[in-house]
Amino acid sequence: MHSVLLVSRLPIAIKMRDIPPSEYKELKEPNRMVLQHVLLHILGPLMRAEHRVFFAWCADGPFRRCVASPVTWIADYPEHRELHNIKNGVCWCKCLQAEMGQLPVRPYPICDHDKYRVLSIANTATANARLAGFDVHQGYNILWDLDCMTSNLPKPDLLHTMQLGMLKHLLGWLSMFLKLHNRFKAFNNIWLSVPAYLDMVQPWQMYEEVSSWQGKEIKTMSHFLVAILRCALRAPSASQRGIFNQAIECSRALVEFYFYSQYDSHDEQTLGLMSTALRDFHHFKDVFRQFRAGKSVTQKGKARRKELIVARDEKLKLMKFKTVAHRECQCKSWNEFISAEMIEHHADGSDFNFPKIHQMLHFCEQIKRYGCLKQWSTETGESSHHMQIKIPYNKSNRSGYIYTQILEHYLCIDVFAVQRLNPNAHGTMNTTGSGETNLTTVKGLKFVSVQGSTMSKSDTFAAILVSVGDLYLRRELQRAMSSLLVSQRVKTNLEAQICCSARVYDGIQIPVTNMHGDQAIQTIRCTGEQTWHGQGPRNDWVWVETSRPREGQEPAYKALQGRVPYRLLKLFNLQVLGGLVWCAFVQTTIPSMGGMPERASGMVRVTEAAKGSGYAVISGGNITGAAHLIPEEPGTSGTTRKA
Ligand SMILES: [Zn+2]
Repeated sequence: MHSVLLVSRLPIAIKMRDIPPSEYKELKEPNRMVLQHVLLHILGPLMRAEHRVFFAWCADGPFRRCVASPVTWIADYPEHRELHNIKNGVCWCKCLQAEMGQLPVRPYPICDHDKYRVLSIANTATANARLAGFDVHQGYNILWDLDCMTSNLPKPDLLHTMQLGMLKHLLGWLSMFLKLHNRFKAFNNIWLSVPAYLDMVQPWQMYEEVSSWQGKEIKTMSHFLVAILRCALRAPSASQRGIFNQAIECSRALVEFYFYSQYDSHDEQTLGLMSTALRDFHHFKDVFRQFRAGKSVTQKGKARRKELIVARDEKLKLMKFKTVAHRECQCKSWNEFISAEMIEHHADGSDFNFPKIHQMLHFCEQIKRYGCLKQWSTETGESSHHMQIKIPYNKSNRSGYIYTQILEHYLCIDVFAVQRLNPNAHGTMNTTGSGETNLTTVKGLKFVSVQGSTMSKSDTFAAILVSVGDLYLRRELQRAMSSLLVSQRVKTNLEAQICCSARVYDGIQIPVTNMHGDQAIQTIRCTGEQTWHGQGPRNDWVWVETSRPREGQEPAYKALQGRVPYRLLKLFNLQVLGGLVWCAFVQTTIPSMGGMPERASGMVRVTEAAKGSGYAVISGGNITGAAHLIPEEPGTSGTTRKA
């Protein structure tokens, strides 16, 4: 039986940014030794047999013999480096710094810590030289004395390795790539047109205006980054096509790798997919190599560029041109030559040898041995710090007894939670508890409306028609409603249909199950022409089941599995001939290429249906969940694609 206990949290050492380099070097060594002393103090008891093994009286009654052993620490790379006593830029496995950015054929061996300890104790010139050869600092390290495999202790931390590490690097590379190819403006505009999706609101500032990316923002962004990139790099010239596809495939591979690494459970297949994604990333990453140039390479590049420009001007001066067009043509070919030279220069002097790109190699092996990676992510700790300390602190008066105020804040939250639970237990309040009324329809689906909203009141179908401002849409709604009733074999004439009592809703709650079998409720919004929280109207996209596959038959639309994304325009029910019909008025789409995903981006493109068949009224029960579509052109609801 195993249980894991938190031993301690180590504070991060003060970042010595403002200290001059000479002083910084002097302080670095003592600081490292202080950390090792603190560690000895914390972990020292684990080294002594009489402390390591003990009997504990457990909550279920019996005494149990316990053996305490260090399992892990979770930290960002700089802290790992300090704890391991290793030099900057190397890993705790035997990977050389010059090979960090490569995908090895087989995993690197782990380090021999016993050898390090012996050499460190010896402290002779030869021993120290050998230690330096292993990229290890001389000096005591408690971890070498512990009864465990030290190299197995660090766990990949998703927050720092992926969100604030690799994905942040990718964002930087992409912005330089897009600027180089004059696509940055298009990218920014599409970025601003990304529609709201469940709890995610529409981005309100441009991509380039985001000053500091938080882990959570990067996590959200990763869901639609590839789709925006694909749209921004649309319609390339013949010479651009190759590198554009490479950039899309590289970004897609990294994002997919990140998604797989977040899975709650794994099997051989998911681990295989994860390895393939990592291999693809390494295969395509060279497209971004030039953006990895360091300071010296950039400086040399600038000098080289100057030389080339002087050479160009001299050459052009000597040449005799018959026409202006001829001169421009020569000038253009020179400029193309210079930019090609620059790309080559930057790519030659750059590499991907940095620790975080290498750490991704350890993900699969860690999952195989210790289970899913999410449990080790520092995101949990950081978000609880936000919930438990930052929010209550911000709600306090920030002076006087802050701690008492923080505790009182918790008390208030608990009291309100209990108050909400009590009426729910007696069934006197609706289950949403947020002032929303709801009604169950087919398949556990609920149509909801916010209380007090003008739309939730009972009305007739005629009033719903009038509430649609656009005349064309109004006619379409009436036509589509009739055809739905005909398809459901409800015999009614137009006049009776208009007088039917109806009720409008502004949301729908759908129970969904994810791939791990976890249940969740998706709340999808459809406010018609009304505004939503001070922003424009919110009419979400939904997946609609259009055909159900028969036994042994492939579902329609390939990757879409028989479902097509539609946009909700109006949600309502209609009382017809004693029965209730739950309806959604939608804008329809048609999958391009029969739902086949595009090769580079892996996305399916959907287009607006032709005029006359672009709108439909569907039965509410056919909605299966929330869809997220990224527009191909900014600011239009026109041609769209799914992420
Ligand atoms: Zn390694």
